[in-house]
Formats: sequence, structure tokens, C-alpha cells
Amino acid sequence: MRGLSGKIAGLAPSATIEIADAAKRMAQEGFDVISLSIGEPDFDTPAHIRDACIDALRRGETHYAPSAGIPALRAAIAEKITRENGFAAGEEEVIVTCGAKNAISEAMEAALNPRDEVVLLDPCWVSYEPAVQIAGGRVRHHPVDPETFQIDDSLLEAITPDTRMIVVNSPSNPSGAVLDERSYRLVADICQDHDLIALSDEIYEKLVYGREHLSLAAFSDMAERTITVNGFSKAYAMTGWRLGYAVAPVRIIRQMNKVQQHTVSHPTTFAMWGGVAALKGDQACVEAMRLEFERRRDYVVEALHGMGYETAPADGAFYAFVKVEGDDLETGRRWLREAHVAVTPGSAFSAPGWLRISYATSLENLREAIRRIAAV
Ligand code: PMP
Ligand code: GLU
Repeated sequence: MRGLSGKIAGLAPSATIEIADAAKRMAQEGFDVISLSIGEPDFDTPAHIRDACIDALRRGETHYAPSAGIPALRAAIAEKITRENGFAAGEEEVIVTCGAKNAISEAMEAALNPRDEVVLLDPCWVSYEPAVQIAGGRVRHHPVDPETFQIDDSLLEAITPDTRMIVVNSPSNPSGAVLDERSYRLVADICQDHDLIALSDEIYEKLVYGREHLSLAAFSDMAERTITVNGFSKAYAMTGWRLGYAVAPVRIIRQMNKVQQHTVSHPTTFAMWGGVAALKGDQACVEAMRLEFERRRDYVVEALHGMGYETAPADGAFYAFVKVEGDDLETGRRWLREAHVAVTPGSAFSAPGWLRISYATSLENLREAIRRIAAV
């Protein structure tokens, strides 16, 4: 029998999802596992958003919708971007996708030709590299400054004649770092000097602590060449809805929409009505969740420092990124085996020697996890 796709066989599975699944399996087998592995808010989707989706179902919003998303949601996203993110967007510059993950893969499919290079700034989230590889491109890894987790001039060294795109992600998964204005300016200058596209993954924009979130597309003329990716999973605790979006120049959105038409058609019609309620409704729920994440961040980071661990800045998202001695994969396995605490090894994010702790769980769970980690 002939072999299957070499391109797909060569991909690493998603470490974030595999470890979370392993923790769930252990829990089903009767182990008292605390999972600090997956990046998923533990809150329920706010009631007014769920109600809007149920109303849509009752109204019969159960048919195919326009492929780039229902006009009400595209308009709400364009308004939100123009109001909050420092650059103007119209409906035509928006595509609603099945999660931010789907927006990222469509962006890669739309932007890359075979052999085009995409620069990823390490540590970086697990799914960027596979998205590039599936689209037929190649990845060039470049580290951020390991002291500050900011971008410095050395980024220029990663640019080759084949470079087509740079991916930035602030607040960062896995480091929790928030990029400063200088980092963004460096990326903007390099993109403009070398005629590159930028993909700015801003899915954690609402989860910043004592810092300000900036959008790459707000920097001089960057809206012309930036694909801003965002979604509902983190800010509104809507992971299972599979709802995200991209904002980009119409010439890029048109190409992404063709990929969408030929693959998923569009996100689930009634789920998109939940998205409208999320963006148009009261934003107090977002702030309430942010405050709770901040309390947990304060506890976890202080507890880790108290145990002698060094952490990355932890200014955003809901991850503490912790430096460990020796092999992170082995330490992660030991924490799971001996403490029944699941975390994600930094190696999954191209950062060996680190562990990612997701603090998107109750303070009670976090206290118990810290107690167990201290014990091993
Ligand atoms: N980008 C980053 C950095 C993430 O952590 C996630 C988490 N899943 C995503 C994109 C995708 O989010 P979703 O597909 O759930 O919208
Ligand atoms: N982004 C989250 C994480 O990093 C969810 C899982 C995933 O989609 O990778 O854990």
C-alpha cells in the first residue's frame, strides 16, 4: 500500500492538546490530576452571549450564511477594531473564522508560496509552525531577547530573500510577555523595508495586567500589510464555539475567503450570533474575568518565586513561563507522575528548559498544585 502524505506525517501533534488529553485520561482512570496544561478559561460563556445564540437557533438561524461571516458580525468586528485597536477597518476587511486557529491557517494558505519563509519569534505557540508547513512554507525560528522577552535588532538576522512573513503574538502564549512599542516599531520597520506581511495574533489582548495592549496594524502604514488575528475563545470564554476572525486588507481577505469557501464554508451560523452579542453587549464580564486571572497570576508567580523559580514577565494571557533546571520534558513528566500536576514543556514552544503553567483554573486548584510541586 502506498504511504500517506509526507507533509502531514512530518508534523508534530499539538502538544497543548495531547497533554491536556493525557491529563483527562488519567483523571478518568481515577487519578486526582490538576491540569495546568491547556490554555482555556475555566469560566462559562457569559449568559447574555449564550442566550443570543439560543435565540438565533429558535429564530431558525440554522442555514448556510455568507462565507466570510454574517454581516452583523463582520460589522461589529469592524466597529470594535476601529474603536479599540488604533486603525480603521471596514466590513470588507473582516473574515469570521472557525476559531483564531482557522484564521491563522487560512492566512498562511492565502499568503505563502512554496519555499516562502515565515519568521517565528521563540518561544512561540505550538500551531504556527504546522500552519506554515501545511501551507507549504518554511519556518525560520528567531529568539526574542531571553532577558526581556522583547524583540531587538537581531531580528534582521532572520530575514532572507525568501522571507515573506513575520508572526508576532502579544500577549504571548507561552511566555505571557507583552510587546512594547519599540518591539512593534522594529517589526514594522523590517516589514516595510523588506516588503513583508505581518501576522499579529492578538487573541489575548483583553488579558493584560498593568500594561497596555498595542496592535501592530496601528503602526505607520502597517494596516496595509498586517493580518490581525483575534477571536472569542479567551476574552469571552468561548473556546468550544470555534469562533475567531482576521482583519486584513481586502486583497488578502478575498484569498482567505476562497480557502474558507472550499473548506469549512463559514463558521456555525447561530454561533456567530453569540459573537455579535459578545462584541455589542456589556463588557463588564470581560473585566471581571481579567481581574480574576490577575489575582491568580499574582498568586502563582509569587509562589513560584518563593520556591526559587525564575519566570518570564507574566504581564498578559494566563500563563506563567517557568525556567527549570535540566530537561523540561523530563521535569514535566515527573510533575505529572509524582505530583499529578499537568503542565506543558517549553520544548513544545521551541523553548527547552522552560515549563508553561496555565493559571486558567481556580485559586483552590492552583494552591493545591503549588503545594504538590513544592513536595516533589
Ligand atoms: N493563538 C494563540 C496564541 C492561542 O493561544 C490560541 C489558543 N487556542 C489560538 C490562537 C487559537 O484560539 P481559537 O482557535 O480557540 O480561537
Ligand atoms: N491555545 C491553547 C493552548 O495553548 C489551547 C490549545 C490549543 O489550541 O493549542 O493551550
